[in-house]
Amino acid sequence: MSIKKFKNSQELYERGQAHLVGAVNSPVRAFKSVGGSPLFISSAKGSKIIDVDDNVYIDLVLSYGPMILGHRFPAVEKKIKKALRHGYSFGASSKGELKLAKMICSAFGSMDKIRFVNSGTEAVFSAIRLARAFTGKDQIIKFSGGYHGHADALLVAAGSGLATLSLPGSKGVPEDAVKNTLVAEFNQIESVKNHIKENHNIAAIIIEPIPGNMGVVLPNEDFIKGLNQLAKEHKILIIADEVMSGFRSKFGGAQDLIGLNADITCLGKVIGGGFPVGAYGARNEIMEMVAPLGPVYQAGTLSGNPIAMAAGIATLKELKKQNPYKKFNKIAAKIEKAFLKGSKEFDLPVQVNRFGSMVNPFFTKEPVTDFPSAQKSDTEMFKIFFWEMIQEGLFIPPSQFESWFLCSSMTKDEIKKVTSGIHTALKKVAETVKVTR
Ligand SMILES: *Cc1c(COP(=O)(O)O)cnc(C)c1O
Repeated sequence: MSIKKFKNSQELYERGQAHLVGAVNSPVRAFKSVGGSPLFISSAKGSKIIDVDDNVYIDLVLSYGPMILGHRFPAVEKKIKKALRHGYSFGASSKGELKLAKMICSAFGSMDKIRFVNSGTEAVFSAIRLARAFTGKDQIIKFSGGYHGHADALLVAAGSGLATLSLPGSKGVPEDAVKNTLVAEFNQIESVKNHIKENHNIAAIIIEPIPGNMGVVLPNEDFIKGLNQLAKEHKILIIADEVMSGFRSKFGGAQDLIGLNADITCLGKVIGGGFPVGAYGARNEIMEMVAPLGPVYQAGTLSGNPIAMAAGIATLKELKKQNPYKKFNKIAAKIEKAFLKGSKEFDLPVQVNRFGSMVNPFFTKEPVTDFPSAQKSDTEMFKIFFWEMIQEGLFIPPSQFESWFLCSSMTKDEIKKVTSGIHTALKKVAETVKVTR
């Protein structure tokens, strides 16, 4: 195999520093946690993505989730092109919004009405405003390692880019903005109970039903049961942040699969099919508090954008038609198997957590069940692993704490390439670690 060169990416990365912050528009793209210079992408099609040096990769990032069908899926592209012919933005309602809203509400038992916004971040901070208005209370509980976008109140013990960079939140967030945010530990119901015992002003518990931003972590049953019960007893709303987990393991939410009684649900990523879309929704009683029906203000110039709606509708339609969820489980199981086999063969500490089209290997001996256990992962090993995967033509997220994503366009051959690439990359990790020990 020839060694991949990144000359053009490197050049753009240097040039990009002039007028973009760190040459990127979202920190994880800078490859800080794996070192080296980040890839610049020129195009993508199906499960393949191509960088500006013409290196071809199987894409396991998929724009951090949205491209669940693969890139430029024909049925989706057709609808986008058609929508483009009718105009780009109207500042008034259009039919696509009704259609996508109906599709989503029908897929979630917990939602009668929905409001479209432009990102997951926006969906979450709007949902919190709504929960506060509905309950007349101010405090929220979040879980450490849970990432809910970059609104001030939620940049406390957050995962995603913050987990990778080990930042304690963010500069520029005033103490006042986070004084109502209480942090609990995922899968540890006592940590939630303790907050409820000591605080009587809690509006909501915000949770990723399947956390994906501290790496993928699975909730245990008793924990979810406990949350449902506490929320009911103390009139606290549950905000299910399904921006990542939505439509990942079934057509609808992870909340159904794990039995979480969500009051408000946040969505994003998949429902926009690659365009900037977010949404929050709930039963009528809650949603009718939002303007123009109620006193909670929330607006957006481009919200419900017709092109984005067309992409979302086509994506969900195709997902329903393909029903790729069994396929996702099979692929994910093969990836897990490749890791466990390699870990045994090369004597490496590896754990694999997965849920539908989300898969996450961790370089650690102990099971990963919460943020502290995820953080025990050996990020040096991950670095070596990452670059070897790149050499193998496999684009994975440049962070130990980001989920890999699967798309339904993957072929048998591509799956084989992924599993054999994992084997090769693990071997490289073992060899490198041996030399430096
Ligand atoms: C990605 C993500 C967000 C933020 O969505 P953006 O569209 O990036 O603003 C919020 N919550 C979760 C769980 C996410 O995975």
